[in-house]
Amino acid sequence: MAGNHKHSDPLPETVLRVKSLESLLIEKGLVEAAALDALIDRYENKVGPKNGAKVVARAWVDEEFKERLLKDGSAAIAEFGFSGAQGEELIAVENTDKIHNVVVCTLCSCYPWPVLGLPPVWYKSAPYRSRVVREPRKVLEEFGTKLPAGTEVRVWDSTAETRYLVVPKRPEGTEGLSEDELTQLVSRDSMIGVSEALGPTATKGG
Ligand code: FE
Repeated sequence: MAGNHKHSDPLPETVLRVKSLESLLIEKGLVEAAALDALIDRYENKVGPKNGAKVVARAWVDEEFKERLLKDGSAAIAEFGFSGAQGEELIAVENTDKIHNVVVCTLCSCYPWPVLGLPPVWYKSAPYRSRVVREPRKVLEEFGTKLPAGTEVRVWDSTAETRYLVVPKRPEGTEGLSEDELTQLVSRDSMIGVSEALGPTATKGG
């Protein structure tokens, strides 16, 4: 798909063509719906967000990298070789005790592919797109994220030109973890901003 779609044109024809193709392949017995779902799940949850997790873990351990990342997201992320379609202009925003950032695309489903892979279904859903702007705290609570009353919530609206990556707060008790172990704590949802990073017990090592 082209990387420069405009919000005034959410590509209904392309979506229609993809759906038709998918139905045809399944109908002809060329692919199984379950296999297709598994493939999509892989890019949504596993392959894609691992790139973003590497960027976040580096920012947690390397203050100079974090400064570069917050100043020019695209350039800092390109140091990892992550660039390309749907990631031309990447902006990293940092969560702190004072500010919590969350990302949406109010008009369609713009998403930073090079660092997060494919967007999850809920990200593309009309309720998320409208509600996270109107009542971000309520939506965050539905994702299990309760923020202190004093924390400011900032909602960033992605566009075809600009995509956002949230750098979640580094969890407490992770001082002794390696950069590689830290990547395991950085969930996809924490980089969209609907969740926080996982606690130190989430690493495979213990
Ligand atoms: Fe969009």
